[in-house]
Amino acid sequence: MYTFDFLDAKHGDCFLVRWGTSDERVMLVDGGPGGVYRASLRGRLQQLGTPGGDAPPHLDVVCLSHVDDDHADGLVRLFRDMRQAQQDGDALPYAVDALWFNSVEELVDKRAPGLSASVKPLLERAATDAAVAASYQQGRDIRNAAGALHLDGNAPFGGPLTEGAEATLGDLDVTVVAPDEAALEELEERWRKAKQRGDPDVITAAYSDSSVPNLSSIVLLLRHEDRTALLTGDARGDHILTGLRDLGLLDDSEPLHVDLLKLPHHGSDRNVEAGFFEQVRADHYVVSADGIRHHHPNEDTLRWLVESRAPDDEYVIHLTNHIPFAEEELTRLSEGRAFDVDVREPAEQALVVTIGDRP
Ligand SMILES: [Zn+2]
Repeated sequence: MYTFDFLDAKHGDCFLVRWGTSDERVMLVDGGPGGVYRASLRGRLQQLGTPGGDAPPHLDVVCLSHVDDDHADGLVRLFRDMRQAQQDGDALPYAVDALWFNSVEELVDKRAPGLSASVKPLLERAATDAAVAASYQQGRDIRNAAGALHLDGNAPFGGPLTEGAEATLGDLDVTVVAPDEAALEELEERWRKAKQRGDPDVITAAYSDSSVPNLSSIVLLLRHEDRTALLTGDARGDHILTGLRDLGLLDDSEPLHVDLLKLPHHGSDRNVEAGFFEQVRADHYVVSADGIRHHHPNEDTLRWLVESRAPDDEYVIHLTNHIPFAEEELTRLSEGRAFDVDVREPAEQALVVTIGDRP
């Protein structure tokens, strides 16, 4: 079994990866923005517990792709519930083994040890900006909760999850594709510039123009029994391609084929170009978005995806929510083409994609 449950994460990401034959193992990736924990995630996790049993739902690992509200809020709340129970002396609501997560500071320090500490006063001044403050606070909340709950950290990778780091979780092979070296370099440059100028606005700008989420997002390639999924967070397409090339997973001879591709950054047209889809192909393309707060997925992104494939190629484009403008564009694109569209109905708890049956 190799199954993905994409929850209604509104404009963010929140999904489970389940695999294994006798013992089901579970990874939770991201927690969605405010409201998602209570509306979707908590209920879905409760179903993982053994019916009638005392054992709480078990998660082998929780992975936060990057610290940004639309990915982090639900995890802050999940860990807050666990901490509350711990402080009250109650049974913990979930059994979580490990947390995989990079703080921006760790990523900056990976290339330039000590740089993040010297920029910290600027970062704190930049935190008068709401986006910076939220991200900074959420990162700290999650790190503190993980410490208090004695969760295992990034140890299987020997440090931050960056390009080339690998781990195995039962019979799931995990390869980190990004942050790639170029992304870490760009992040370091931003922090150096802030330090040289002594200007917190350099940090604020790095958050508000989306470069921090784009550059720090963890991209995972998961392989279970020869089936692969590429989970891209909010990374930028060029960094994903660079990471794949650096790791020898992609060359000029042919595109990389994966069974499932979660589109980067909710299908934004700012994170990918047409060439991205020429180089990464999938049987299942998943867009986690609701089209309300942001115009995601963008029509251009969908067109680039579809035009990268032959008309008689069979594949499925999955949407976690009904999004009228995206569905209209897909209907238009589907003329004379063989792909299918699958949309989670509002009453369904999750968009479930099982890899194994080729479409
Ligand atoms: Zn996002």
